[in-house]
Amino acid sequence: MNIVLLGPPGAGKGTQAASLSESYHLQWISTGDMLREVVATQGDMSEMIRAIMDKGGLIPDEIMLQMLSNRISIESKGKKNFLLDGFPRTLEQAHSLDGILKDQNLQLDAVIHIQLDDQHIVERISGRLYCADCGTGYHTVFHPPKQAGICDLCGSKNIVRRSDDSQSSIEGRLREHHEKTAPLLPYYRQRDLLYEVDGDGRVDVVQGRINEVIASFAANTFAGREKEACL
Ligand code: AMP
Repeated sequence: MNIVLLGPPGAGKGTQAASLSESYHLQWISTGDMLREVVATQGDMSEMIRAIMDKGGLIPDEIMLQMLSNRISIESKGKKNFLLDGFPRTLEQAHSLDGILKDQNLQLDAVIHIQLDDQHIVERISGRLYCADCGTGYHTVFHPPKQAGICDLCGSKNIVRRSDDSQSSIEGRLREHHEKTAPLLPYYRQRDLLYEVDGDGRVDVVQGRINEVIASFAANTFAGREKEACL
């Protein structure tokens, strides 16, 4: 089962992807995390990528496609199913993803869209924190660490904000989302791949909604494939 997780910035894609990948044994591929790793290496492209991310812009498609096709080809050699978080973000990326999957003889089973309105997004992003040592996510209001400033998981005191969670960056990210990513919804709806999930509410409540969606399409998809295999 291969899944794309779509949604505006701050909708909770990363948080949900972390638990979904564990529950369903999916390889979690987050293009945002891949880019943050590139920035951290301080290599040739890191300055350019950091500057775009800090403004809330999108990294050019050619760079993203190269990155993603390398990663999918590695995962498919290991016969892993994947959960894509943060890709595709443009129609061009969606078309290229179709090509990459076809070349690897893979198929997309579902696109889950976590919906959240702009007001909730700003609230969520402006309180977002993460542990710079182990990556665990927190929120000042909705999910603070049990002990202020200390990571529940690894005990690190390195709890920080993402550099692209500033007010000006949030505006840029929302603009990019509405202009470039929202057109993916009709694209996947037309192909009967799109499942909408309300992203408002506690993490476990949203997770329950996603689980219901996965149960519904998994039943249809696998029943369909078994039928095809019998023909
Ligand atoms: P995320 O962690 O998914 O919120 O992504 C953080 C930032 O990384 C985005 O605001 C973009 O600047 C960049 N980014 C992540 N994925 C993509 C993508 N598929 N295409 C272009 N830029 C991306």
